[in-house]
Amino acid sequence: MAQHSNIVGGSTAKRVIACPGSVALVQQMPPKPSSKYADEGTLLHNAIADVLGQGSPPASHIGASYQGITLTEELHAEKLIPALRALDEVDPHREMEFQVEAVVGFGDALPGVFGSADLIGRIGRRAVVLDWKFGSGVAVDVEENAQAMFYAAAAMRTDATRWAFKGVEEVELIIVQPAHAPHHIKRWVTTPGRILNFERELFVAVKTALLPDAPLTSGDHCRWCAAKPVCPLLTGAVDRALQTRIKALDADQIAAYVANADLLETWIADVRALAQTMMEQGVRLPGYKLVPKRGTRKWLSEERALDELAALGLTNEELTETALLSPAKVEKVLKKRKLDLPRDLVVSVSTGNTIAPESDPRPEALMIGKHLSAALGKLT
Ligand code: SF4
Repeated sequence: MAQHSNIVGGSTAKRVIACPGSVALVQQMPPKPSSKYADEGTLLHNAIADVLGQGSPPASHIGASYQGITLTEELHAEKLIPALRALDEVDPHREMEFQVEAVVGFGDALPGVFGSADLIGRIGRRAVVLDWKFGSGVAVDVEENAQAMFYAAAAMRTDATRWAFKGVEEVELIIVQPAHAPHHIKRWVTTPGRILNFERELFVAVKTALLPDAPLTSGDHCRWCAAKPVCPLLTGAVDRALQTRIKALDADQIAAYVANADLLETWIADVRALAQTMMEQGVRLPGYKLVPKRGTRKWLSEERALDELAALGLTNEELTETALLSPAKVEKVLKKRKLDLPRDLVVSVSTGNTIAPESDPRPEALMIGKHLSAALGKLT
């Protein structure tokens, strides 16, 4: 648990595969200080390693401490014991051979890429890779879990753990999260072939990550990425680069396209109208039919509806609504009385810009940054 390589490790495999460009960015970030949750996890992992490796009684670890965190009776009851009891379900007949806290890596295939697997075991022709997670955060899915597959792939390549995979037909990945009892044991059986495929994906991702222009891709893997604060995908730097590229486009050519677009729009409207006319006159157009537009319900008689609904006990307030007329309609009413609409009662709010030819009489829109424009929009 405590050991990581700085290119990719179990906990970062998903992110590196999805976003190889993140490796260089993360390496620029200052190391994150350990948290009390991580220290508590290390304390519990140490206790498990001792219980399973040396045969010490679990209760003998009550009072042990790591980085100022003490293994209390509560932690013993709520996390250590459920974590150990998970093995009763995984290995009910106590036939599993296993190794705990095994340092596993990819050797010369991926120098410097390694991790520490919580438990590598074997029951008959099934290899077992088990990961204890002691945090109280989100429940983790085991199926296609990149972290578990990372440990399995590394363990298959590591001399000290290769025995667990020799000749097996299945690889079972298990994640145990005591904080999520009673659904704290998640198991997924896959094949050695799937693990080898994952390894290939990982190798490609690491190779890509070392390229100077390794791609960045955002997604749910960003959640745990330390480079979020400086990532150009998340800081808007990509938007700015896009704007630079937009400015480099040939403006004359785009203006010609806009003129064509005007023509095309009328052509599209005309061809649609022609098709509808032909179909309404009985001509069949292959692949098309006429359908009624969506209906909206209307009162057969508003007067009768009001009477009958009032008889059902509905009040006038429940049945009708009054709303102020629009400035344009009120202006018409005022005109009849020879009055002007008071100017300070209205404001003209545009819903955005539209393209118009230079000959259009309307004044040109003021171009302000879109963020400022969005902020001003909220003030109205
Ligand atoms: S925040 Fe997301 S997109 Fe940006 S580097 Fe990290 S993983 Fe990649």
